[in-house]
Amino acid sequence: MTKSNFILNKVSDEQTNFLVFFGTFVDTPKLGELRIRERTSIGVLDGIIKFVKRDSSDPVMDCLDYDASLSPDDILVVDITGEDESCLTSFYFPGFIDTHNHISQYPNVGIFGNSTLLDWLEKYTFPMEAALANQDIASEVYNKVIGRTLSHGTTTVAYYNTIDAKSAKLLAQISSVLGQRVLVGKVCMDANAPEYYIEDTKTSYESTVKIIKYIKETLGNPLVNPIVTPRFAPSCSRELMQKLSKLVKDEDLHVQTHLSENKKEIQWVQKLFPECTNYTDVYDKYGLLTEKTVLAHCVHLTDAEANVVRQRRCGISHCPISNSSLTSGECRVRWLLDQGIKVGLGTDVSAGHSCSILATGRQAFAVSRHLAMKKSDNVKLSVSECLYLATMGGAQVLNMEDTLGTFEVGKQFDVQAIDTCTPGSNVDTFHWQLQNQEQNQDFYKNPPLITKEDIIAKWFFNGDDRNTTKVWVAGRVVHQT
Ligand SMILES: [Zn+2]
Repeated sequence: MTKSNFILNKVSDEQTNFLVFFGTFVDTPKLGELRIRERTSIGVLDGIIKFVKRDSSDPVMDCLDYDASLSPDDILVVDITGEDESCLTSFYFPGFIDTHNHISQYPNVGIFGNSTLLDWLEKYTFPMEAALANQDIASEVYNKVIGRTLSHGTTTVAYYNTIDAKSAKLLAQISSVLGQRVLVGKVCMDANAPEYYIEDTKTSYESTVKIIKYIKETLGNPLVNPIVTPRFAPSCSRELMQKLSKLVKDEDLHVQTHLSENKKEIQWVQKLFPECTNYTDVYDKYGLLTEKTVLAHCVHLTDAEANVVRQRRCGISHCPISNSSLTSGECRVRWLLDQGIKVGLGTDVSAGHSCSILATGRQAFAVSRHLAMKKSDNVKLSVSECLYLATMGGAQVLNMEDTLGTFEVGKQFDVQAIDTCTPGSNVDTFHWQLQNQEQNQDFYKNPPLITKEDIIAKWFFNGDDRNTTKVWVAGRVVHQT
């Protein structure tokens, strides 16, 4: 196949055209499996993958084979291989999924001193969130974070905002314009919060209902959905949790909250809710644990609590940068996965100091190594396992595994194009590492070649937004360099 057959890098927002993407597709369909499909074409219509053709010799023909009624003029070909004749250094990867991001805390990124969770909330977090009631400030922050996360290849995010309903509405509107797939959470907190940043139960509940109605009925963008967001047990009255629980069940909504992040927090919860057997039991008793519930952290879960999380089919957002920064602890990810509990990654901005899921994955890798030093080698997470958490794991946590996370027919085309050799790239590969394996195999004196898996690992450890050259959500370009 010659490149002259293709209309190189021609992309369009025009949704009536049939798009076909050609190149190397890398994904993680199962935990521990890195699937690399070279010279593959994927056809996309209305943002949905219609076919996957391996060993493609002509992507346009693949489209016509799929649907003979198409005309070649209707087909737009996107080919990212460029000069990469080896098909080694450029590839498509599923968009990252950030299952826990406090967008409203972003201006505080990197600012946490030596604090731990409870003093960090008082000193840094509540004042910043309160400040975003100013719509000009909020607008600036939302635009910055959505642009930043998209540039790092994050196509789906579950956002915590503030207690302010106006700001939540603004976040939904800006997300809709910028094209990210998002869950927007108006934070609910009617207890144990400073006077300047608290709501009464009625206001908290009613403003939640209002924002849900706005997102679902007025905004009407399928990429933007509400998520009910009781901040964490200490911030919520029993009455508020019960009301939110009814709402969640009546409208089949997502829920997000925090669980078992820090030891002092756990002691506090036990004092506040003596009728509950443990922290997880608070959410269970007050009806917030469903298969669409995202539980951030879960660092110190007991066996009994993990069992409830598994039975209720909740997902866990592992936030390793945050857990290290606030010295919360080391989440036992292997222990959770071995029990069949869904685990994804969360940046937890701003306790997490990076918007990047790739950086978060690296920290998940490192935290698992620290755990291994205290426990055993089998708790180590591999590169492909961390990439699984970053994509399929996140999709499962959000209960969206049927539509996101891998390249399969019927799934949404939420994708990032990666080029490890892009100008200014922090990923260094040498030309002699990439030589054709067949040409080189007899020359024992030649330096070692690297495999495709090695390239992925190099990207995992040294890559950043410079390598993410183009990003699509539902087949639409939402970022390009
Ligand atoms: Zn958080």
